[in-house]
Amino acid sequence: MQNDPTADLLATVDHRWLVTGAAGFIGSHLVEALLRNGQRVVGLDNFATGLRKNLPAIEAAVGPDAWQRFTFIEGDIRVSADCARACEGVDVVLHQAALGSVPRSLADPFTTNAVNIDGTLNMLLAARDAGVPRFVFAASSSTYGDHPGLPKKEELIGRPLSPYAITKYVGELYADIFHRNFGLATVGLRYFNVFGPRQDPDGAYAAVIPLWVSHMIRGQSCLIHGDGENSRDFTYIDNVVQANVRAALIADPAALGQIYNVSLGERTTLNELFAWIRAGLTELLPGNAALAATKVEHGEMRPGDVRHSQADITKARTLLGYAPTHGVREGLAASLAWYARHVR
Ligand code: NAD
Repeated sequence: MQNDPTADLLATVDHRWLVTGAAGFIGSHLVEALLRNGQRVVGLDNFATGLRKNLPAIEAAVGPDAWQRFTFIEGDIRVSADCARACEGVDVVLHQAALGSVPRSLADPFTTNAVNIDGTLNMLLAARDAGVPRFVFAASSSTYGDHPGLPKKEELIGRPLSPYAITKYVGELYADIFHRNFGLATVGLRYFNVFGPRQDPDGAYAAVIPLWVSHMIRGQSCLIHGDGENSRDFTYIDNVVQANVRAALIADPAALGQIYNVSLGERTTLNELFAWIRAGLTELLPGNAALAATKVEHGEMRPGDVRHSQADITKARTLLGYAPTHGVREGLAASLAWYARHVR
């Protein structure tokens, strides 16, 4: 077991936290880590993409005593009253609720816009009006758009390549306005390709790691968009949880009203990723005939996709004290073990 930096950070803290998107992949891990470390947590979700079964999974992970410190509100961030109710008495908002996925946003830009922009504005207003001292929110590496620079530095962004990217950038702009005009202590975390247990392998907009893992276990072919030499800065969920807790607790005023890259700071090609997943699953599921039969198919690069993505994480290291604990291969090992138990 790795040393868990969030345990040390939270040891002397007794806060009431609001996690929006609590039934989703990242939100459910935030809830779990906070409950595990003695915090009181409110979760808000409308199950648009989050899974009801994630809530009992958190309960099972943290145990009945910790679970009593959790309150769940089934509600929608597009509804002001739901946001206001969720923010009551809260010390920290970790705003994760959104509609993810570039292809989803190209297929239905209106709904992505409404949830990600109107919903985030609703949450900022509700947090401000409730006097919430800290507002941490999920931004996205998609904001780098067509800027060619590598590794990505926070201040150098290009033109957005999708409606999703626009919405996540507008969230940053609104947070900045709320910081400068209303004194709301905002911190934006630009996540890069997060992965880990509970990331949904099903549905039309599944992310690449859960998609490939489930396809391999089920003996379905895996599609690589392009030649597979495109790369991403795959980031294990524990690193993201750590960044959120640090952003929520940092006292330095210079660290607030800022945007940070949150990733590992390395690049993995899709071909490498594919090989590592197949090798890892082969070790976990020896003799799995479906796995051995998995084929790779190559397709076109998808519209809105960038060829390479890698973050410079110096700013988060320097101002937040962020230090990733899990590399891609360690994160994959933990994730594959989970998928091997849960995917049928
Ligand atoms: P997810 O889909 O698993 O979680 C999002 C959650 O928000 C879901 O539980 C969903 O039901 C909920 N939600 C959606 N619309 C809602 C609404 N109108 N009201 C209330 N709840 C609503 O996705 P995730 O991967 O956990 O992403 C969490 C956040 O991180 C999102 O803001 C996403 O844009 C951002 N992000 C994720 C990644 C990644 O690699 N996973 C990368 C960059 C940014």
